[in-house]
Amino acid sequence: MVSQLAEEVPTDLEMIFKSQPRLSPEERALVLRAYKYAAEAHEGARRDGGEPYITHPVAVAQILADLRLDAPTLAAALLHDVVEDVEGIKIEDIEQHFGAEVAQLVDGVTKLGKLPTSTDAMRNGKAGDREAETLRKIFLSMNNDIRVVLIKLADRLHNMRTLGYVAPEKQIKKARETLDIFAPLANRLGIWQIKWELEDLSFRYLNPEKYREIASQLATRRAEREKYLETVKARLIKEISALGIPNVQVSARPKHIYSIYRKMERKRIPFDQVYDIHALRVIVPEKVQCYQVLGVVHSIWRPIPGEFDDYIAAPKNNFYQSLHTAVVDDQGKTIEVQIRTPEMHQHAEYGIAAHWRYKEGTAHDKAFEEHLRYLRHLIESAAEGVNAADAQEFVSVMRSDVFQNRVYVFTPKGDVIDLPSGATPIDFAYHIHTDIGHRCRGARVNGVQVSLDYRLKSGDRVEIITSSKRAGPSLDWLNPSLGYVQTSRARNKIKAWFKRVGRENNIALGRNVVDRELARLGLASKPREEVAALFGFAKVDDFFAAVGYGDISAPNIATKVLEADRKAQREAAAETLAPNTEAPQRPVNASDGIDIMGDTGMLITLGRCCNPVRGDPIVGYITRGKGVTVHRADCPNVINSSEPERFINVTWGSAVERAYPVPIVITAYDREGLLRDIGAVTANENINISELRVQTRNSVASIFLTIELENLEQLSRVLAKIEMLPNVIEARRRVNV
Ligand code: MN
Repeated sequence: MVSQLAEEVPTDLEMIFKSQPRLSPEERALVLRAYKYAAEAHEGARRDGGEPYITHPVAVAQILADLRLDAPTLAAALLHDVVEDVEGIKIEDIEQHFGAEVAQLVDGVTKLGKLPTSTDAMRNGKAGDREAETLRKIFLSMNNDIRVVLIKLADRLHNMRTLGYVAPEKQIKKARETLDIFAPLANRLGIWQIKWELEDLSFRYLNPEKYREIASQLATRRAEREKYLETVKARLIKEISALGIPNVQVSARPKHIYSIYRKMERKRIPFDQVYDIHALRVIVPEKVQCYQVLGVVHSIWRPIPGEFDDYIAAPKNNFYQSLHTAVVDDQGKTIEVQIRTPEMHQHAEYGIAAHWRYKEGTAHDKAFEEHLRYLRHLIESAAEGVNAADAQEFVSVMRSDVFQNRVYVFTPKGDVIDLPSGATPIDFAYHIHTDIGHRCRGARVNGVQVSLDYRLKSGDRVEIITSSKRAGPSLDWLNPSLGYVQTSRARNKIKAWFKRVGRENNIALGRNVVDRELARLGLASKPREEVAALFGFAKVDDFFAAVGYGDISAPNIATKVLEADRKAQREAAAETLAPNTEAPQRPVNASDGIDIMGDTGMLITLGRCCNPVRGDPIVGYITRGKGVTVHRADCPNVINSSEPERFINVTWGSAVERAYPVPIVITAYDREGLLRDIGAVTANENINISELRVQTRNSVASIFLTIELENLEQLSRVLAKIEMLPNVIEARRRVNV
């Protein structure tokens, strides 16, 4: 029997069985049938390099066999291009021949195969939606059956290995996409083996000169390096053996070209310095021995402060576990040491695929489930509030719009970060790390500096510029009308920061905000106690602290203060003029839109004593020969009038909303396009400009505007937005005009 089977099995398939020796005879038969079916289907077809097409699915299956994946996966890998490339073969045929499990895997890969490919277009923001769709599909299939994604990664890896036969433009495109999406994906899944190879292959096409330069430098220095590492290894093994730990493995970690390049770029150091960092890996049977070995390493060489990381106690988010340290030897050379158990090592090399490696038959053990749960968590953040345990509900949420309201952006390392659409660089910074958020001072998107309220687009590569010294977030970030922050995560972190910095700081911060806002409103000298009282605070410090915490915003202050101001002006006017109801008046504009019951032909004026504005309760007063004067219902002149028969009902008409004119002045270093930019801000707020005058002295321009607001809240916002324009020193309300 055995020899008969061996006879039938082609050599390339034998290799696959050798790499994955744990298949039962039935499972081997399934893989063999898939092989024959695929070979027949692809008969006559050739790859770009001229070899028979079947070599590609076989190579893909080989990669997966090296990861020790199961028989349905290997069969699906062999069949993965059949439905897409061969006319006349449908997914139903696969199901009929190979069963539902294999058919579902093939179907999943086929659907993933129809991905949009242009990451260049996505860089320019043109195809952002399509690119988000790519990632959405990947995450979705990850959720349905992770093996689909593993087949796709193996497919991409073999295509990258054979990319040399493809047209040059296509090479760049594929390499870019691989580096942007597939290598980070492999990293997310923890499959280091596939990740580094995808990176090196992509790099080879994206930056061929640098690739060759590093490769040749590596080759020339190899012998010298290996000799050094041998002595270091011998020393370490000797010391560890003294502890009585059996089965110690010490190996030199291979250096990958792209990771060397990245290190050179990141640390701005030449090749030699990266190269001189030697890397060792120690594998010991038990977790407790990892810490013993750490002790040995730190006793024979001098540890470098800040370089020790315990990823055993606190695993990385792709479940990576290991101890990391770096030491300096007697010659001053840096040695990085990783210490881990064989199980941790399997995980580090094969990630999620490790679950198939050492388990009998099925991969559905507890650790695997946990790992999958983490991957799902990536998607779940999109579907906040959805019960993760309920897979059905989860998938349905994924299929709904939730995912489409996300943007997918890249870190400088190429990791994919997903955020709600409308997210800003500040949201991104807080997503990466709370501390990055707090120190965020600027951002570059695709290499170009952008403002912090920039809306991220799918495909953007985002780099956060942080202040070097310890600093905190700005209170403006919490001001919702300025739109700096979209995610509740960032908002909570910012609020927490302000809470934590304590009351004293909050008082100081709040005082600054109040000072700035009152100066803007032209009310710098207004007693702060009065302002605090408007918000119900007896103590001015309590008020400042509330502002400092972010509970009271700048627009809140502007609205309250201006309303109070207007009320005071009315009362003052009423006092001087009372009780004369025929006091000075101003003519009514059409835009005042007042309706007088029963008569439309009368001249209407607004009482100057109380200056009614739209929304105030009002009454009309029939004057002697001058038509009707409109007063606020609570105007003292009305209340104290001795001629109640002269009053008539009037209402604010349904006509246009009456504008509230506010004179403002903007001080700025003059520049081209400044007025246009100011116009754009007011236009966006739907605000009219009714007066415009510019004075320039020593290249500092004073721009006098009267803007017509619909409500007072607009004032603070529009002033703040104008102040954000380049060259603008300040924008404030003018008083006493
Ligand atoms: Mn393929």
